[in-house]
Amino acid sequence: MAVEKHKPVTPALTEWEYAPAPEARDIVSLEERYGLYVGGELVEPRSGEWFTTLSPATEEPLAEVAQAGAEDVDSAVTAARGAFQDGWSGLAPSERAKYLFRIARILQERSRELAVLESLNGGKPIRESRDVDLPLAAAHFFYYAGWADKLEYAFPNRRPLPLGVAGQIIPWNFPLLMLAWKIAPALAAGNTVVLKPAETTPLTALFFAEVCRQAELPPGVVNIVTGDGRTGAEIVRHDGVDKIAFTGSTEVGKAIQRELAGTGTRLTLELGGKAANIIFDDAALDQAVEGIVNGIYFNQGHVCCAGSRLLVQESIYEATIAKLKRRLETLRVGDPLDKNTDVGAINSRMQLEKIAELVEAGKEEGAEIYQPPCRLPEKGYWFAPTVFTNVAQSYRIAQEEIFGPVLSVLTFRTPEEAIEKANNTPYGLSAGVWTEKGSRILWMAERLRAGVVWANTFNRFDPSSPFGGYKESGFGREGGRHGLEPYLRFDA
Ligand code: NDP
Repeated sequence: MAVEKHKPVTPALTEWEYAPAPEARDIVSLEERYGLYVGGELVEPRSGEWFTTLSPATEEPLAEVAQAGAEDVDSAVTAARGAFQDGWSGLAPSERAKYLFRIARILQERSRELAVLESLNGGKPIRESRDVDLPLAAAHFFYYAGWADKLEYAFPNRRPLPLGVAGQIIPWNFPLLMLAWKIAPALAAGNTVVLKPAETTPLTALFFAEVCRQAELPPGVVNIVTGDGRTGAEIVRHDGVDKIAFTGSTEVGKAIQRELAGTGTRLTLELGGKAANIIFDDAALDQAVEGIVNGIYFNQGHVCCAGSRLLVQESIYEATIAKLKRRLETLRVGDPLDKNTDVGAINSRMQLEKIAELVEAGKEEGAEIYQPPCRLPEKGYWFAPTVFTNVAQSYRIAQEEIFGPVLSVLTFRTPEEAIEKANNTPYGLSAGVWTEKGSRILWMAERLRAGVVWANTFNRFDPSSPFGGYKESGFGREGGRHGLEPYLRFDA
């Protein structure tokens, strides 16, 4: 008897594709134009200048934003000084705390709007802005709200007092989170602020102005001036500013330090990095590969503490690279507003050019490049996740901050060699160690010249944990009790 073959009703899938899962964009309503937030109001810039802010994923213009000039910066500093003297510095600390708690709760309540806006303007995947940037920004306000009325306990017998007006200049990689890192401790300590977001990512800072209004924060306590580097330079130069807090490139950090030398203005700098992510042969390899991916492809590698130099123990080199390459094939690059996206858009054309230039230098110097097959969108700024093997320590890609999704792989044989190589950089912001031996983690952490050392994890942040660098990565700490200190003077 002939057996009839059973034919499947639907043909078997040969390829599994993720269906698009875009986050609704219409939750955000954008104005055509945004003024400067000075003295509790959005005002037209006296400079009369405006610029357009884009979506880096599509190059679509999103809004016009004011370019603050010297007069605008001056009126923001005057508003901040007025608010400091007219009440904020004298307010009962427990009352200050209430405003910070209120801001934290509003950030949580409006987190979807803010996450969409952050991804739209900055290009980072919505999964990250929703699950990392927003919860951490709110957590910073909650955390420092808790300190506002406990400064005497944080610094016993030292009579902590606020400094006055803080000028704060932030970069484009974590726009709202960097704002929270700056504003929360400054306000908790009783200061008022003038903050400049980066030129390419001003929109969540302007949304934050709305959050301040909603929280009924007294006018002038927070002032937001948008613009390019010239606006930042005006803040630095203004003699009504008592303290500058800067996060950005080492080059601009050095220029600011030169400008402020001898002026008495307090300064903290959080600058670049070239972190070593060190994998020992006893590490849980699959877990370590996830840590490598999170270390360098998180936020397209636009992370000052990114694990951009992978140091693998020689005996597990082949296995690690094979697993890493396989994992890279599963990364989804594309629309930042798609909930399945792992790697979003590069923040600006300028940054894309810088990444491309350094990648070319890596190829020319003799490193071997690997990029997984992936289709990049036609419009916007994109760069495929990249791994360089056969990298010598002298290559530019092993020395310079690329600030993109590009990993340079080196090897080592002994822990001593790993330390030598890890510390062989002008930077010293962060490092990662992967091993199952606790004693080895402690041995390594003691010798690594890095402000943060992660063990069997990477890119973990917590408001209670201080963050900052050695050497050309800057000085001063943000986060934790240490993060309050730069915003205080001590009477005893
Ligand atoms: P910048 O250091 O230029 O930017 C950081 C902030 O400083 C921005 O708000 C910027 O304004 C402002 N700024 C620029 N020039 C001055 C100045 N003379 N005085 C005061 N403020 C100023 O970084 P870029 O955006 O140009 O990025 C360049 C490189 O820096 C990146 O490729 C990366 O390697 C590194 N970088 C490191 C960061 C970190 O967190 N460590 C963050 C960002 C960049 P504007 O936005 O208009 O330029």
